[in-house]
Amino acid sequence: YSKESGRNAFHFFTADMNARVLERLSLETSLRRALERNEFVLHFQPQVGLIGEQRDQLVGMEALVRWQHPDLGLVAPGRFIPVAEDCGLIIALGEWVLRESCRQAREWQLIREAQGLSPVPVAVNISALQFRHSGLEASVVAALADSGLPPQLLELELTESIMMQDAERALELLDRLKQRGVSLSIDDFGTGYSSLAYLKRFPIDKLKIDRTFVRDIATSADDATIAATIVNMARSLKLLVLAEGVETEAQQAFLADLGCNYMQGYLVSPPVGADHFQTTYLLPAIAAEAGMI
Ligand code: C2E
Ligand code: MG
Ligand code: MG
Ligand code: MG
Repeated sequence: YSKESGRNAFHFFTADMNARVLERLSLETSLRRALERNEFVLHFQPQVGLIGEQRDQLVGMEALVRWQHPDLGLVAPGRFIPVAEDCGLIIALGEWVLRESCRQAREWQLIREAQGLSPVPVAVNISALQFRHSGLEASVVAALADSGLPPQLLELELTESIMMQDAERALELLDRLKQRGVSLSIDDFGTGYSSLAYLKRFPIDKLKIDRTFVRDIATSADDATIAATIVNMARSLKLLVLAEGVETEAQQAFLADLGCNYMQGYLVSPPVGADHFQTTYLLPAIAAEAGMI
């Protein structure tokens, strides 16, 4: 390289970096504005029983946030959650998700109760920063109190890395949340590094097997072994286990044979808007028509 082109390359690089920073800044600004303008929406994905009396029954739902952008349409969380996490906006967004999940679950609890049906718990994803933030317990308590949702109908999803990062503090916080009556699950299980010693001490109710292990479960001996190991470990620790990302009947059959309690995935339904969820999955007669049962 000549001196000249080297200098140009340098200028080009900084210009590119400036563009990225600007992009980031404008995304942060639009996210902040989106929160003020109420542009976030929750989608819900049904969770269904795999074995025993709960087989094919609606046993839960996961709330998954989307950004209803005026020009871009529906934006997936993978596009904005990491930025919201970096700039701290995840605290306010996470609080909104908690409140809206509890409000919706309470509304649906009353609808099902009127039909003599058992209530359906809602699972809410908690980000790393939210978990480290001192206000989490208070946010959970406020969302429950303001919505009237019984704590037993709220499940918090945390990843292994979130829990293991400061395991002693996590243990205390999880114990307090558990004493409040909410249930706790480990999301994307198998992708992080959990200490078995902590797994036993954490007041966890459920493991969610990450979908990367579910994908080839019926064809890869390694993935089948991993899934079987997780199910057996869950059983010996007296935890429930849910398989994420179930897309085929072969995967469903395999997981049922292993004794996995629940499944979630495109085979049953992708995450859908609240209206769609209510008309299609909330009441069993309608769910049967939709082919879920
Ligand atoms: P997650 O919590 O592991 O959620 C499951 C993701 O897998 C969802 O993607 C869901 O749409 C997708 N999925 C479900 N079934 C299938 C399937 O059968 N096949 C495939 N290929 N994918 C399936 P989504 O909604 O795009 O969310 C991605 C991630 O964003 C979530 O992963 C979660 O980590 C995060 N996220 C979503 N909503 C929130 C939120 O409200 N708060 C926080 N902190 N994170 C959220
Ligand atoms: Mg999740
Ligand atoms: Mg997951
Ligand atoms: Mg995931």
